[in-house]
Amino acid sequence: MEKVQTGFVIEFYSNACLVRTKDADIPCIAIKNIVVGDIVKIEIVQDSKETKGLILSKEPRKSSLQKKEGLRSKTIAANITHVGILVTQEPKTATEFIDKWILTSLLSDIKPFIINNKIDLKLDESYINKLNIYKKLNIDMFNISAKNNTNINEIKEFLEEKCVVFVGNSGAGKSTLTNCLTGRDIKTNMLSNNQGVHTTSISTMYEVDKNIKIIDSPGVRDLPISGWKRNQIIHGFAEIQELSHNCKFNDCNHTNNDGCAILSALDNGETHKSRYNNFIKFRDAEENE
Ligand code: GDP
Ligand code: ZN
Repeated sequence: MEKVQTGFVIEFYSNACLVRTKDADIPCIAIKNIVVGDIVKIEIVQDSKETKGLILSKEPRKSSLQKKEGLRSKTIAANITHVGILVTQEPKTATEFIDKWILTSLLSDIKPFIINNKIDLKLDESYINKLNIYKKLNIDMFNISAKNNTNINEIKEFLEEKCVVFVGNSGAGKSTLTNCLTGRDIKTNMLSNNQGVHTTSISTMYEVDKNIKIIDSPGVRDLPISGWKRNQIIHGFAEIQELSHNCKFNDCNHTNNDGCAILSALDNGETHKSRYNNFIKFRDAEENE
């Protein structure tokens, strides 16, 4: 085995991580500022009992998904290319949840797309209208049933060579979909350490055929949106941002100004009310410019 190797972090525990190199999955002592998805250089240390690795350096990240807590932020996963937002009629997915994730993804240089799960159930009109908001925005959408394995291949094709994290309310079907794609039961994922004690991982990356990487991280699920700058929020609302260029005043607040192009688009139904409301809500929740 070569002494210095490159690999990516596939699993994270409280103070250890697992790095996948071309040869093997090598346990390493976790160091600060390394997360699942990071590409790292490690030095192999072999003693009589085991092979371990020391992390020497990490490559610059192509994207980093961050959990914001006020002005502080903590990276949860690196090099994610796509966020798959699971939307279901039951449990009901709020547009606020969807818009929050579109915003978070776009501000993190990650592509968001929508997975309409549980299409085996009868869908009502208000739910179909909700999906239509996002179809109009040209966000990629897949209509699936994770439980019945319907249209899973389309997602597989879409995610070829990509790294995805699935987000959704509890009960939306994230585990079912992940199991379906990986062929394993992720809720029972465990690792035995040297003492034979089982520890549940904090965050895990699965590699599936077609070079698809799926990151499963409980820390992602309740990602708060606060901590962005007020003036960044509009970047998560492309159609609203586009309209804002036509507002009469440069410093239009888009709530009560004369000649606000967004408000007129809202009036004539060009912009959807829930998108507008979430934009204002997210923006006004932020204090810093
Ligand atoms: P998670 O909390 O997002 O991980 O959701 P789970 O994967 O645990 O799924 C929650 C429930 O929804 C389970 O009872 C699943 O069997 C069910 N479920 C998942 N996908 C589908 C689907 O496509 N159709 C139906 N009818 N139920 C589903
Ligand atoms: Zn305006």
